[in-house]
Order: sequence, then C-alpha cells, then structure tokens
Amino acid sequence: MHNYIRDLITRLATKNAGRSAYRTPLVGFAQADNPGFARLKEVVGPGHLLPQDLLPGARSVAAFFLPFTRDLTSIHRRNPYPSREWAAAYIQTNELISSICRTLVEELGKRGVRAAWQKPTHNFHAKTLTSFWSHKHVAYLCGLGTFGLHHMLITKAGCAGRLGSLVLDVPLPATPVPAEEYCLHRRGQNCAACVRLCPTGALNTNGLDRHRCYRQLLEVNDFYHDLGFCDICGKCAVGPCALAVPKGPDDCHR
Ligand code: SF4
Ligand code: SF4
Repeated sequence: MHNYIRDLITRLATKNAGRSAYRTPLVGFAQADNPGFARLKEVVGPGHLLPQDLLPGARSVAAFFLPFTRDLTSIHRRNPYPSREWAAAYIQTNELISSICRTLVEELGKRGVRAAWQKPTHNFHAKTLTSFWSHKHVAYLCGLGTFGLHHMLITKAGCAGRLGSLVLDVPLPATPVPAEEYCLHRRGQNCAACVRLCPTGALNTNGLDRHRCYRQLLEVNDFYHDLGFCDICGKCAVGPCALAVPKGPDDCHR
C-alpha cells in the first residue's frame, strides 16, 4: 500500500513540464500513535490536532514533499525581490497538493482505505500565527528531513518546495527520522546563509520573528495581487540547502 501511495503521488506530481515541473517527490510515513504527534501541542501550539482528530481510527500518516526545480530556485535566488515565478509556483503547488490529496482519498476509498487531509496552507491561527496542522512538523515525524536554522524542513531534495500530508486508517511501515542534522548550522558548521538572505531581519541565529516575517509575506501578496492570494517570500529557502542536503561550509558560498 505504501508503494501504491508513493507511486500515485509521483505520477500526479511529475506529469507537468517546464515552469510547472517538479523534481521527484519524497514520500514518508509515520504511525498515527507516534508520541511525537502529541508533543506537537507543546512544540507548535496547544491547538495542534492529532491524527485521530482528522480521522477517527487513524493508523498512519503520510507526508510528501514536492521539490521545486533548480531553474525556479535559481530565478528566485537571482531576483532581488521575491520572484513572480515563485509566487505563481506557490499557488500552483498548493492547488496540486489539494488535487493529489483529493485523488488519494478517492483512489484509496476504492481499496477500502479511509483518508483525511488538511489544506496545504493557511492552517494557522490568524493572530498567533500558530498552526493547528503543521505539515512541516508532520513531515519531520514521517522521516522526510530535519529542521534548518530557517525553521523549514530540509529534506534529501532540499527545502525549496512544498509539503502535503494525509491521515489514513491503514497501518503502514514508518519511515525512520534521519539520524543526523541536515542543516549546516545545526551540525556546528559556519553557515547562516538563510539569515543573510532574509530581507527583513525576521530571521536571525536566535530565532524567527513570525510576525515580522508574515508582514513581508503579505507585502509580497499585495505586490503580486493579480496572481491570487500569494503570501510568500522564501528568500531564506534558496541558500545551500535549497536543493539537497548541503555537504559542507563551501556550499554556503555557492
Ligand atoms: S542556509 Fe545554512 S544555516 Fe540556513 S538552514 Fe540552510 S544549511 Fe542551515
Ligand atoms: S520568508 Fe522571507 S521574511 Fe520570512 S524569514 Fe524567510 S526570508 Fe525572512
């Protein structure tokens, strides 16, 4: 069953070409009773939901990462302001994630498996900006990567891309959480490229000012208002960990 889910996600995500393309998706799984889900109420916020809240009888959780192309990442890196292409990809990818989840619910339903999902973004409290279903924390528990200094998940395909997740009522083999940190800073190496790339000062080595960051996201949304709601920035996502696990400090100067 886990191979069927992985193959279906890959097929649905890789049928696009050109600017709408993705690199090969990553898919991981966790058991729904993994105590890490309950801990998200402390780590993320008390309102964070459990898999069983999304789907009574939940047995497992699947998370997937749709990695953006090298081309899109370098356009975004070169552009002094968050690029129009990245903003458009955000909207398109959120639609794709919803479409993948809807298809999975339908196709799994034909095989007697129930599944539930949360939309790919705007799963957060408007005032506190704390999430009630954090795909990045769910993806961490599903073994997809580790957190970077920039508070995003760094996967084996980097951090430039978007995450989705579903809860299922069938047991699936859990993907082990990576044994080592993927972020250079967290491995004790001299990086912090994400901090230097942040145009607002919201990110520093002591933490992320969520509200200052979100003000930038809303400003970008105003700038590209013709595209639809695109509260994005992602300048911190195009450093050495954008496309892969960075190897060493030299990656910080690429
Ligand atoms: S840019 Fe460097 S310090 Fe920042 S998250 Fe990536 S690897 Fe870590
Ligand atoms: S999204 Fe933009 S403003 Fe927010 S931390 Fe990253 S670079 Fe800074």
